[in-house]
Amino acid sequence: MPSFKCKDIGLKCPFEASESNEFDLEKKIADHAREAHDKAHLSADEWTKIKKVIH
Ligand SMILES: [Zn+2]
Repeated sequence: MPSFKCKDIGLKCPFEASESNEFDLEKKIADHAREAHDKAHLSADEWTKIKKVIH
């Protein structure tokens, strides 16, 4: 099951998520970035960083 933690990309944030597939997980991350980090859109660089730590 793919999972992601904000702290894996160096953020001081306790958020972690796991979903049955990467597509849903990325949706969850995008929602979290918008709500908690005030980022309406994640850049390609940020997604690259995020995808590197999804496991
Ligand atoms: Zn976060």
